[in-house]
Amino acid sequence: DIWQGIDFSQSKPQARVDGSTGVTFADVAGIEEAVEELQELVNYLKNPDLFDKLGIKPPHGVLLEGPPGCGKTLVAKAIAGEAGVPFYQMAGSEFVEVLVGVGSARIRDLFKRAKVNKPSVIFIDEIDALATRRQGIFSDSSDNLYNAATQERETTLNQLLIELDGFDTGKGVIFLGATNRMDLLDPALLRPGRFDRKIRVQPPNAKGRLEVLKVHARKVKLSPSVDLSSYANDLPGWTGAKLAQLLQEAALVAARKGHEEVDQSDLDDAVDRLTIGPKRVGIELGHQGQCRRATAEVGTAITSHLLRRLENAKVERCDRVSINPRGQTLSQVVFHRLDDELYMFERRPQLLHRLQVFLGGRAAEDVIYGRDTSRASVNYLADATWLARKIITIWNLENPMVIHGEPPPWRKTAKFVGPRLDFEGSLYDDYDLTEPPLNFNLDDEIAKRTEELLREMYKKTVLLLRQHHAALLKTVKVLLNQKEISGAEIDFIIDKYPAETSVSLLL
Ligand code: ADP
Repeated sequence: DIWQGIDFSQSKPQARVDGSTGVTFADVAGIEEAVEELQELVNYLKNPDLFDKLGIKPPHGVLLEGPPGCGKTLVAKAIAGEAGVPFYQMAGSEFVEVLVGVGSARIRDLFKRAKVNKPSVIFIDEIDALATRRQGIFSDSSDNLYNAATQERETTLNQLLIELDGFDTGKGVIFLGATNRMDLLDPALLRPGRFDRKIRVQPPNAKGRLEVLKVHARKVKLSPSVDLSSYANDLPGWTGAKLAQLLQEAALVAARKGHEEVDQSDLDDAVDRLTIGPKRVGIELGHQGQCRRATAEVGTAITSHLLRRLENAKVERCDRVSINPRGQTLSQVVFHRLDDELYMFERRPQLLHRLQVFLGGRAAEDVIYGRDTSRASVNYLADATWLARKIITIWNLENPMVIHGEPPPWRKTAKFVGPRLDFEGSLYDDYDLTEPPLNFNLDDEIAKRTEELLREMYKKTVLLLRQHHAALLKTVKVLLNQKEISGAEIDFIIDKYPAETSVSLLL
C-alpha cells in the first residue's frame, strides 16, 4: 500500500467543530413539524444514559430532505445547540477526492472524533455528493479517471455504511444528513439501521414565512409601522434563506439611504433587488422610449384593474408600475399574487381575462398611437400568444375537440380499470393516435385557432381601453412624471376619469 504511513485524515479539509453552535429552536421557524420530530433527539442527547437504561434506542441516522435554504443546516445546528453538545459538520463534496482512500479515512476520522466527544452531533450536508447510487462493478467505461473517481466514491460510501452499521445505538452520537436530491441517494443508505428516519424540510407557507421574518427581524432595527404579514403573504415560494436575505438587504438599503430604522420603502426596495435586480444607474431611456414603455406597462396594469372592477375578473391586480430601469428590465409592473387556490384550478374566464391583461400593453399603444406601435409591448404579446396556444391545445378550452396529435405520455401507459372500461390496458389501444384524429393539418389548425382567439380578445381589450381612454392617458402622464405609480393611484385615476370621459380634458 503506497499510501501507508500517510495520514490522509489530517489532510484538509477537516470537519468543522462547533463547540456550541449557539443556535436554538427559537432561531428556526416555519418548519414546526420537523422541529417537533427532532425534539426527541435533543432529549436523547441531553441524557443518553437514561434512554439507554430505559431501553429506548434513538434512530441510527436522520435524513433531512428538502430544497436548499429551507433550514436543514440550521435545524441540525439547533439540535446540538439545544442539547449543548459539539457539532461536527462536513459537506458531502469534501469527501470526494480522486485519491482512493482519502474519503473513507475522513469518514473514519469524523466518526472517531465525534465518538470521543460524545454526546455529539455529526452533520453531513449535501450527502448525495458522496452517496450517489452506485454503478455496480461492471462498468465498461474506459475512462480511467472516471473509474478511479467512481471507485473512490464507492469506497467512501461503504465506509459510511460501515460506520452507520457499527454505530451502536446508545453511544450518544446522533448522525444527521441533508440532501435536496433524495432520488440520487444509494438505496443502501436508506435501509433500516442506516437512515431510518427521514424528515422533509419544506419551504414555509404564508404563516411560516411570517414566523421566519419575525425571527430575522430581531436582528435588524425595524420601524414599528412595518407590516411583515403583507410580505409573508406576497412572497410565496420564498425559502427561509431568501427571507433572511430580504431583511439583511433591507437593512443595507436603509443604511444607504441614511434611515434610522428599516421602513416599508426599504423592504420594498429590497424585494425588488432580490427579484428583479438592483436599480440600474446610467441607463436612461429617451423621452420617446419612456413614453412607449409607460404606455405598454400602464396598458397592462390598467386592463387588469378594469377587468377586476367591471367583470369581477380573477386576475392579479397591479401593485406598482415603474419605469426605473432595474436588473435586466427597463420598466416593470409588479403584480399582486392571488390566493393559491385560484392558481390550482384556473378556469376559462380567468385565463381569458389574463390573456386580455397581456394584450393590454399593445392595445394601449393602439389606442394612444394608432398604427404607430413599438417594440415596447412585444414581451407581453409573446406571453399572450403562449397562453392562447395553451388554452387551445393543452387545456382544450375553446373547442371541445381534442386536437392533440398524440395522447400525452401519461395516458399511453395509464391503466384504466373501471365500470365503463372493463379491459385493462390503454384507453387508446384501439386507435393509432400518433395520427391527428381528424384529417387536417394540425399545426395549421392550431395556428388558425390561436390567431382567432388572440384577435377576438385583442379587439375586446382595445374597446375596453378606448372607453377608458382618459384614465389611460392620465395614468401614463402621472407615471412619466413620477417614474412610479401605485395600484391605489391607478384606482384613484379610474374613479376620477370614468368611462367615456372626454380626452380633450387632459390635453
Ligand atoms: P439548507 O441547509 O436547507 O440549505 P440553511 O439552514 O443553510 O438551509 O439556511 C440558510 C440560512 O437561511 C439559515 O442560516 C437561516 O438564517 C435562514 N433560514 C433558512 N431556513 C430558515 C427557517 N426555517 N427559519 C429561520 N431561518 C431560516
